[in-house]
Amino acid sequence: MSGLSIIVPCYNEEESIPLFYKAVEKVLTKMKDVQPIFWFIDDGSKDNTLPEIKELRKQDKNVHYISFSRNFGKEAAIYAGLKNVDTDYVVLMDVDLQDPPDLLPKMYQLIKSGKYDSVGCRRVDRDGESRFKSFLSDCFYSVINKISDVEIVPGVRDYRMMTKQMVQAVLEMNEYSRFSKGIFSWVGFRTKYLEYHNIERVAGKSDWTTWALFKYALTGIVDFSQTPLNMSMWIGMISFLLSIIGILFVCIRKIILPNSSVFGWASLVSIILLIGGLQLFCLGIIGKYIGKIYLQVKNRPIYLEKEKQ
Ligand code: UDP
Ligand code: MG
Repeated sequence: MSGLSIIVPCYNEEESIPLFYKAVEKVLTKMKDVQPIFWFIDDGSKDNTLPEIKELRKQDKNVHYISFSRNFGKEAAIYAGLKNVDTDYVVLMDVDLQDPPDLLPKMYQLIKSGKYDSVGCRRVDRDGESRFKSFLSDCFYSVINKISDVEIVPGVRDYRMMTKQMVQAVLEMNEYSRFSKGIFSWVGFRTKYLEYHNIERVAGKSDWTTWALFKYALTGIVDFSQTPLNMSMWIGMISFLLSIIGILFVCIRKIILPNSSVFGWASLVSIILLIGGLQLFCLGIIGKYIGKIYLQVKNRPIYLEKEKQ
């Protein structure tokens, strides 16, 4: 008999919780050699999420929960869950049933065989999602895989089963800005990816706007790559070289054609605007990294608990 903790981040999910519990229980009863423990993380929900979880706890003592003092985000909820579990195996699942529970037996079988330390899942299509969002995701995966030292498999979800050892490794990365997809890849270990087709949420709605996804992608890049910083150095170097050529050009023209000084106003304005723009762009990149350092050195807690059971 092995213990399996199921960590479920929930933010305003009152409708999904009973549906999720029922669907997962159905699959778990078939897994005879597993002793499941649910950990629902209420990420500062404003609806009846917490009462719904408490209702489940009344029926099933294997249901535990942590309730945050406010909304800290899914990454913080995952971290809180991982910190509190103590079983041989751990799985992270979304409560909206977009992570199909039917895959649990297969994941468990693979991890139990000892061949893998972690079994992740990836969506192979994005049916039901806007074309524009899918296009942006594709761009994100190709960029981050080119410029960072972690490999992020396209379409990978946070739905992942891990051994205790890998959970410990993930917890050792207690950085404030958390990008789980990068962290799971960074810690290494042998990982198997299962594929499945996209499933739409069972209830409620996702609050991921395109802008929020874009910011999430930027977090991933800044957290796991120094390429933007190097890029700003190269931009600086190239514009410096170009300006030397420009200076030589102006000086030589002055010597050859002494009366041409008024000539070139338009190009001068263009150059000033271009260089000014590049400087602000590079400063922005540096600012992004300084912002991360600022948050890290303040050493604030990743989440705050209000209730736990
Ligand atoms: N979630 C959370 N905190 C948040 C936002 C989301 O814990 O601030 C949870 C949410 O309840 C769900 C999971 O994270 O269980 C995934 O959220 P969502 O379905 O909105 O994301 P998507 O599936 O669109 O990536
Ligand atoms: Mg979802």
